[in-house]
Amino acid sequence: MTPAKRSSRRSSSRGPAPVALDTTAAPEPATSLSDETSVENTPLFSSLGLDERVLKAVEAAGYAHPTPIQTQAIPLALRGRDLMGLAQTGTGKTAAFTLPIVQRLLDGPRRLRALILTPTRELCQQVDASFRKYGLFAGIDVAPVYGGVGYEPQEKALSSGVDVIVATPGRLIDHMERRNVSLDELEILVLDEADRMLDMGFAPQINRIVAGISPYRQTLLFSATMPPEVEALARKYLRRPIVVQVGRRSQAAHTVRHAVYPVPGARKTPLLVALLKEPDMDSVLVFTRTKHGADKVVRGLNDAGIEASAMHADKTQAQRNAALEGFRTGAVRVLVATDIAQRGLDISGISHVINYDVPGQAEDYIHRIGRTGRAAQTGDAFTFMAPDEIAMVRTIERVLGQPIDRVSMPGFDFGSGA
Ligand code: AMP
Repeated sequence: MTPAKRSSRRSSSRGPAPVALDTTAAPEPATSLSDETSVENTPLFSSLGLDERVLKAVEAAGYAHPTPIQTQAIPLALRGRDLMGLAQTGTGKTAAFTLPIVQRLLDGPRRLRALILTPTRELCQQVDASFRKYGLFAGIDVAPVYGGVGYEPQEKALSSGVDVIVATPGRLIDHMERRNVSLDELEILVLDEADRMLDMGFAPQINRIVAGISPYRQTLLFSATMPPEVEALARKYLRRPIVVQVGRRSQAAHTVRHAVYPVPGARKTPLLVALLKEPDMDSVLVFTRTKHGADKVVRGLNDAGIEASAMHADKTQAQRNAALEGFRTGAVRVLVATDIAQRGLDISGISHVINYDVPGQAEDYIHRIGRTGRAAQTGDAFTFMAPDEIAMVRTIERVLGQPIDRVSMPGFDFGSGA
């Protein structure tokens, strides 16, 4: 769609943007990529209206079928509609917005036309990598912009002219203040993991950034959950959005097997050491509640002769990248992280997620275990439950709508009465 056409469409629908939950145009919500039957009935990428250069990149990525969110979102995004994508990570949501954006940028004028805001540096890097992957045959220039690293390389990239910026909000504002970037001609805005961005207190930064963007843009918002704050954000910035939902909001990835290990708090590290001796524990992501806790678990594992890295907000960006890279390549089998790694981390082949501490909120449980079982791979999610965490586990089970199996490890159990 040309900018002129888009303008006329927009001007006819001015005024406050109600979150008209226009689901009529959307196909029936699908469940999950892991549904075997859904794969058979899934259309091919070639039926979604994508250009050959985009399809070639999809083929190079090795994808056979679009995931349900891709099937629903891509044709709508290509038509220029605002979208609200309710999808947990692991559903293929990044390609669901990246592919239509790449297509919109094909053969267009060379200037900054798309901005993706992400909550964390890691997600920023991953979305940047997706643009490079899916834009392989499209000649698109993308710049990642995030904090914790020097300004100069980013300034250089921005001044050389890019089509897409993938940014965390704080660093983007720094660049705006330094006049390194202008959002004047932006056509597409994506708010990725909107719930997480609001959780992290980015609302003022988002407001400031969006205030400088033309209202005649297309806006896509993705969120794993839809608390009132995200709905308010959507009401403010989206115009007659179509809601695309994959699975129930509280649904955990289908391919994950859950288990709860009742264990006294002081026995958690020995239990972890014992479990890590199992041969199928290839690539294990361990979550702790605190940074201090993460460091302590790493020390405990190292003492037992198990190599592990910690990843949390007190680590420098270089340390975080190194930890992630070591884990991604398999050089380090165990990564111990706080919730900084909870969302957006896209590491294929994680065999196990272990909640060393029970997460404080039920929805965090779903996001954490979303790290395993991504895009139809299977994975296990184990939760260590100390006596003072029993109530929280029960809440999680209520939200999941199913009980989680209790597994007793002789010598570690505090009793099966939980
Ligand atoms: P996301 O939900 O965007 O974080 O994507 C999760 C994972 O699924 C990533 O590793 C993608 O490379 C992968 N993926 C995305 N689309 C597809 C697809 N159509 N088929 C198979 N894997 C996919």
